[in-house]
Amino acid sequence: MSRVYNFSAGPAVLPEEVLKEAANEMLNYNGTGMSVMEMSHRSKPFEEIITNAEQDLRDLMNIPDNYRVLFLQGGASLQFSMIPMNLMKNGVADYIVTGQWAKKAYQEAQKYGKVNKIASSEDKTFSYIPDCSDLPISENADYVYICENNTIYGTKFKNLPNTKGKILVSDASSCILSEPVDVTKYGILYAGVQKNVGPAGVVIVIIREDLITEDVLPGTPTMMRYKTHADAKSLYNTPPAYGIYICGKVFKWLKKIGGLTAIKEYNEKKAKIIYDFLDQSQLFKGTVVKEDRSFMNVPFITGDADLDAQFVTEATAAGFMNLKGHRTVGGMRASIYNAMPIEGVEKLVALMREFEAKNL
Ligand code: PMP
Repeated sequence: MSRVYNFSAGPAVLPEEVLKEAANEMLNYNGTGMSVMEMSHRSKPFEEIITNAEQDLRDLMNIPDNYRVLFLQGGASLQFSMIPMNLMKNGVADYIVTGQWAKKAYQEAQKYGKVNKIASSEDKTFSYIPDCSDLPISENADYVYICENNTIYGTKFKNLPNTKGKILVSDASSCILSEPVDVTKYGILYAGVQKNVGPAGVVIVIIREDLITEDVLPGTPTMMRYKTHADAKSLYNTPPAYGIYICGKVFKWLKKIGGLTAIKEYNEKKAKIIYDFLDQSQLFKGTVVKEDRSFMNVPFITGDADLDAQFVTEATAAGFMNLKGHRTVGGMRASIYNAMPIEGVEKLVALMREFEAKNL
């Protein structure tokens, strides 16, 4: 069977080249006579894999020396607790709620201190990013939290909030490595890798060194302290070794194709194809205000639930998979992460055009 166009929001499409390389190395990695899956995480070959992966990520994102890179587990969701447990020294944090994932993080943090919702776009089904240029940041806030790209709703912060000097924490799960970013603007930038980087099971945490301290909330488990993992260079316990190996390959792939400036251009081009179509279509329309549109997740609807379902069925039959919108919002969503080839987007738009001609 040939490969399909996979528009899944995550786990999601990975570069074919990376998958082929991994397949070639499955039985015998680099002359070791074993798969990376079978290898001790304390072995020399794995040490090289994790060291190179970190260095390649540092090169790609231009990560300054005073930031640590951690490869952790527990999904992006475990960070919803780790962040307050490690950062809430004053017991206060400000959250900007722009979707379900930000809301979950906001709700989880409430277990650990006083949590303020300083802005939200829930009034309009999270279809926009609120103006964050002059928010009522709490005087003693330990940090300000955002979800930078909202996977379900398809919005993206085009400008980071003005945190008035407070530490910015960002969930970049669905936009990490999609464009260059200035890491120095963040205290913590983290991402579950299963959308834009690798297989589920790895979380990348990029954290400013001074935020890694012993001074965490009482009762914080050893495994949930950033210091534990920073001190052990992500090898305190058995890390998600095979996942880190694949992430490393994706970093190398990104470097080879020109790094984050090149991938940003490619992503913009892909997103433009689909948004331009939506803007002139008589049948399909985007659900997000134009200025805040994500280049990674593109939600759209026909306005008729039956027609939406029919489109998803026909698209699936034609090899365009996972276009059904998130179960909480309905409609369609095309996730077009780094590894989605431009032909996938062009062909999807051709299919939408055809569907429109038949059903208008
Ligand atoms: N944050 C964002 C932005 C997401 O899209 C998701 C969904 N995958 C999560 C957090 C939760 O991730 P995980 O399933 O890895 O906990």
